[in-house]
Amino acid sequence: MAVRPASEASFEFSVPVVVIGAGACGLTAALSLREQGLEVLVLERDSRPTGSTSLSAGLIPAAGTRFQREKGIEDSPELFAADLAAKAHGENDPVVVRAVAEASGPTIDWLADNQGLDLHLVEGFTYPGHSRLRMHGPKTQTGADLESMLLAAADRAGIDILTGASVEDLYADEGGRVVAIGARRPDGTTDVVGCEAVILACCGYGGNADLVRRHIPEMEAAAFCGHTSNTGDALAWGEALGAGLADLGSYQGHGSFCLPQGLQVTWAVMMLGGVQVNLEGRRFADETRGYSEQAEDVLRQPEGVAWDIYDARCEVPALAFHDYQEVKRLGGIREADTVEQLAKVTGLPADALARTFAEVASYAAGHGRDPLGRDFTATPPLAPPYRAARVTGALLHTQGGLTIDGEARVLRRDGTLLPNLFAGGGAARGFSGPSGWGYLSGNGLLSAVVLGRIAGLSAASLVTAATR
Ligand SMILES: Cc1cc2nc3c(=O)[nH]c(=O)nc-3n(C[C@H](O)[C@H](O)[C@H](O)COP(=O)(O)OP(=O)(O)OC[C@H]3O[C@@H](n4cnc5c(N)ncnc54)[C@H](O)[C@@H]3O)c2cc1C
Repeated sequence: MAVRPASEASFEFSVPVVVIGAGACGLTAALSLREQGLEVLVLERDSRPTGSTSLSAGLIPAAGTRFQREKGIEDSPELFAADLAAKAHGENDPVVVRAVAEASGPTIDWLADNQGLDLHLVEGFTYPGHSRLRMHGPKTQTGADLESMLLAAADRAGIDILTGASVEDLYADEGGRVVAIGARRPDGTTDVVGCEAVILACCGYGGNADLVRRHIPEMEAAAFCGHTSNTGDALAWGEALGAGLADLGSYQGHGSFCLPQGLQVTWAVMMLGGVQVNLEGRRFADETRGYSEQAEDVLRQPEGVAWDIYDARCEVPALAFHDYQEVKRLGGIREADTVEQLAKVTGLPADALARTFAEVASYAAGHGRDPLGRDFTATPPLAPPYRAARVTGALLHTQGGLTIDGEARVLRRDGTLLPNLFAGGGAARGFSGPSGWGYLSGNGLLSAVVLGRIAGLSAASLVTAATR
């Protein structure tokens, strides 16, 4: 990946805006641009666009949507921004946080009402750190369907997506204005395309082991369960263009990943009363802080694994997730009618497991306080029949990236604007602070979808203003 002098760019074809990457960010940006009447070309390295987006649960947090209003849920951008700031201990950019919180509700409504995406509001549990029910996604709760719906919308809008086009080079003048991109094609040739603006929607660097080792050493040994094509290209170009880079140690981890199935057991089971125990049958952290920070805690346990322990009641909302259904179908969920039987089917020490059950029941009854800090009084105690899943901690995607302003315009290291570069999704600095603990559920797609739309609108105004 390189930035080459503008004088080296030779091209016969140009478009107003090039979007690099056809995940949620790139497709949302392209839909916004198209709606503004602009021609856009989306370049995607893979032969079929999937991205991390397709691996996700497809759930996007948003405040003030019509879906929330229909259910009588009062939410606001202010409340959402406060939740984002609280989870990251105030270590995110308040200007960008405010901008996405404000744009989140209108973006979901626009996707549903203007772009024809069949979305719904997830009910039954709130994710850690969200003070309202505000997760929206496909009814199947799978990112593969979110990606398919975005691709169908792009098709309806007449958006050109060139697949098998791995962008390797940006061509820029001395002021940092990108005038063209070079994309390698499967036959080894390079297509150079001229442009007036570029949107980086090529996600982060979770698929680049060297960058993970350098920036997130604590997750070096974790399974990477995101998209392998997230190779950190935006970072390389941004650095060469003098862009600011921030929060490179930030990431979305997940403390409940079933291997070898490679699928998550939704954290809903924890929020409704489930617990995690290590191979000694002991709990080791407050599960309600969040699944991202729990990944590191799970990896610190013997053999780097834990058992999710919950019951049939906790399983009800989990059954709405395609990934959970798959884990179940593939035999990843054990069932038991008693704690003794649970010990047998998991291989956990029966005495220790029984002790953990007794402790949790007494905290739930208000007797004593959990030394790990969890409040068990808000959820009913676990009751038979029980469920269990053997899980590990995984790295899903990175949250550090190019610094941007509230209009998704990429900033230089000195805080001034690069002339025509925009970023969203995993390519941009996220909202999760410097590490894994600041990840509020949904920050990944919030950045992809909402910053994608903002980037599309910003690039459209730039290009339109230049042609006036
Ligand atoms: C298992 C899992 C579960 C998750 N669940 C959720 C969830 O429920 N909610 C949530 O908010 N987030 C979730 N996330 C995170 C979320 O999926 C990502 O944050 C989001 O999809 C990022 O979108 P994106 O468009 O930036 O990147 P992607 O969807 O990864 O798209 C980037 C695209 O760019 C392409 N690309 C890369 N480099 C180049 C190049 N040089 N040239 C051309 N193309 C290139 C890639 O091939 C890829 O298709 C989850 C992630 C995983 C892995």
